[in-house]
This record gives sequence, structure tokens and C-alpha cells, in this order.
Amino acid sequence: MSEKNLASLNDLASMAKRRGFLFQSSEIYGGLGGCWDYGPLGIELKNNVKERWWKSMTYRSDIEGIDASILMNATVWEASGHVENFFDPMVDCKKCKSRFRADKVDLTAACPVCGTKGEFTEARNFNLMFKTQVGAVEDSSAVVYLRPETAQGIFVNFLNVQGTMRQKLPFGIAQIGKAFRNEITPGNFIFRLREFEQMEMQYFVAPGTQLTHFEAWKELRMKWHLENGIRKEKLRYLVHEKLAHYADHAVDIEYEFPGGWEEMEGIHSRTDFDLRRHQEYSKKNLQYVDQSDGNKKFIPYVVETSAGCDRSVLAVMCDAYRVEFPGDPLQERVVMRFHKKIAPIKMAVLPLMKKPELEAVADKIYQEIQKSVKSEYDTSGSIGKRYRRQDEIGTPYCATIDYDSLTDHKITIRDRDSMKQERVAIDQIDNFLKDNL
Ligand code: ATP
Repeated sequence: MSEKNLASLNDLASMAKRRGFLFQSSEIYGGLGGCWDYGPLGIELKNNVKERWWKSMTYRSDIEGIDASILMNATVWEASGHVENFFDPMVDCKKCKSRFRADKVDLTAACPVCGTKGEFTEARNFNLMFKTQVGAVEDSSAVVYLRPETAQGIFVNFLNVQGTMRQKLPFGIAQIGKAFRNEITPGNFIFRLREFEQMEMQYFVAPGTQLTHFEAWKELRMKWHLENGIRKEKLRYLVHEKLAHYADHAVDIEYEFPGGWEEMEGIHSRTDFDLRRHQEYSKKNLQYVDQSDGNKKFIPYVVETSAGCDRSVLAVMCDAYRVEFPGDPLQERVVMRFHKKIAPIKMAVLPLMKKPELEAVADKIYQEIQKSVKSEYDTSGSIGKRYRRQDEIGTPYCATIDYDSLTDHKITIRDRDSMKQERVAIDQIDNFLKDNL
């Protein structure tokens, strides 16, 4: 049997829409650039990815979770350097007025939209933070920003968490939450969004030990992506040669999307830059007191892992997408080979025919398994068609109830990948799911 990988993000986007994974935001009004809505299957998939991340990060003794607010005191963004430095260089085509990131377009070539050659404006800096205001008074003191990253909510809570949870170095703080960037050129489906979700963890360490922790997190984070079911040959590290002035090591984990290798996650060793700046701007002492070393005081160093949730979901979808040709062209099927742990639907319950006696048994099974795993009930169309639909949304198991089921109290369970079928006793379905998921 031959198979093909995903050819383009467009193929994925159309499947994702047709099957209820992702819809354009406010689609009936023409949408909004860089914003997408997760549909019923998309949110299951995304929640499964987030749950895996959350458990891998916070179900251990040295990392605590938080959920900081999106709006913060505006001084946070001065201290972090975002007000001063969070710019992308932008150019406009003089002819059609289309806007591009100067670092992503060849300024001597033709405009990618209208084809006019070399007619770009000078590059100007464009701050990516969305600005808004709090309260009714419109003056500069009311300005706030939608956070462009979740990390700062962690830095400003460093001592709150350390003190209340009685943590000792090294320890980390993890958070999943929305971030907003007014990207000049959003696109590539959910790759570059204006509203997206980050999964970030800041690990606070003693100065001088950061390289050891950086190397350990680099390995752990790669392992996490592999355990999402992504193929090894589609993942790689990209070591940063040019570092931000405050960083002493940085590496990206990249995935080979249909259009090429792109960043999914960054692992950065950020020295004491962030906490030092917050200490300076807030005038609060943010030092850690090391009781194991004569109450020595110092500002910890930070190694961070910063992953895009939507990009992880996109990579998982791209990687799972397979078109299979088992020989007979009529048999061609699209199958999402999701890892069972993150597949949105774990089992579909399918009465062979729309007959009350079959549906009564099927419905009972469906109600029962729904208590422990997300499942679907489907009676419409031929059984072959229903299998194809479940293949396309990546459901690992289909349970079919036929006339034999009424007498032998068994059902047929079909495996998504091998398409092999086995008879399983109805009272053993729970155990089957426990053993196989
Ligand atoms: P890029 O170079 O793609 O603009 P970045 O290097 O600015 O990204 P970081 O600031 O390191 O990204 O953000 C950490 C992670 O957040 C990224 O690895 C990515 O997964 C995710 N991310 C950043 N910007 C976006 C976006 N506009 N849409 C979706 N995810 C994003």
C-alpha cells in the first residue's frame, strides 16, 4: 500500500473546516486576518495537547502552574523591553499599498501581490503590541497592552509563587494562555496568528548552572513533541548563532511543515535579564535568599521553554495527515494518524443499520463509554462511508453493532491504522479502551 503526506496547508485547512476542526473567525462577515475559531473537534485536539503539556510540566515537584491575567500594568512592558524593542520592520508597496515584513520580502524583487518591481517604501518599525485602555478616562495613564507573551506574568509572580509554595532553586513556573501580536503578515492557516496561545515555562536556576538546565530542557522538550506522535525525521533543532543581548544560549525546535522548516518552540537561556529589569522598574527586591548557602542573596537566572500551542496543533495535524492508496483507487482514504492520546474522538459507535433493536444496544454502549472517553455516535450512510469519516478525523477505534451482537453480546472493533477488526464482548469494551488508549 502506498501513501502520501500532506501536500499543502490549503488541503489541511479545507479538511479542517469540512470536518469541524477550525473555522475562520467571524466567517460570515468575511473573517478577520490572523484569527481562527476552533470547532468541536479542534478544541478536543487542542485541549488534549494542552493537557499533555500541563501534566508534563506541572505534575512534578519542582514546577508550579499559574494563570496570570492578560492585561497588566503597562510598566511591565517597559521593563521587559517590549515598548522599546518589540518591532518588526515593515515596508509598503507604493503601487498597491500591500504591507510586508521587510525581513521576509526581497526588496529588490517584484511585489508579491501586484508584481510591481522594486517600488517599496523605506522600512519603518512597527510595534506588534495591541494597545487599548482601561477605565473611562482617556489619558496616557490608562493605556494597557494585550500581552504579546505569557512570560511576563510569570516573572512578576516569581516571589509570590516561590514564597507561597516554599520552592527552592531550581524550580519553575508554567502557564498556558492567550497572547496577542499585531503581526504585519499573518497567515499560513494557524501558523502565524494575531491571537494565539502559548505554553511557557520559566525555570529559575542558580547563576552558573544555566547551561546544564538548558541542555536538559532542550532534550525534554524534543521528547515531548515526539510523544505527541510527530515523526522524528520531521523535527530538528536550530541553534541561534545571533543571540539577543540578554541571552546566553538559544535553540528552536523546528518542524518541517509542507512549506519548509519553521519554529514551533524556543528554548532560551535568558540570564537574570527579566528579573533584574523588573527589580529596577518596580523598585521591589526580587532577590532569592539561598538558605542552603548562608542566606546568600541573588537574582536567579532563567531558562525558558516557549511553545506555541496553535503551532503544536498545526504540526500534529500536518504530521498525522496521510492519503493512503491500498491498491484499488476507489479505496483511497484520507486518514489522520493522530497519536491515540491526542485524537479528538477515541471511539465511534456505529449501529450497522438504522434499526431500533440495533440502535437500542448501540445507544447504551455510547452512553456508557462517553463517561470515560470522548466518543461519537453515527447512524447515517453506509458503514464504509462512516469508517472513512472517522478515519479522516483520526478516530482510533470504531465499534460496530450488528445483528449477531443481539445474541452473542459482542461488537466489532475496527482499528483505524491496520483496518483490522476484532470481536469484543460488550462488557469488555471498557477494558479494551483502558488497555489500548
Ligand atoms: P516568529 O519568529 O515566528 O515571529 P518568535 O521567535 O517571535 O516567532 P517567540 O516570541 O519566541 O516567537 O514565541 C514563542 C512561541 O510562540 C513560538 O515558538 C511560536 O510557537 C509561538 N508564536 C509566536 N508568535 C506566534 C504567532 N503570531 N502565531 C502563532 N504562534 C506564535
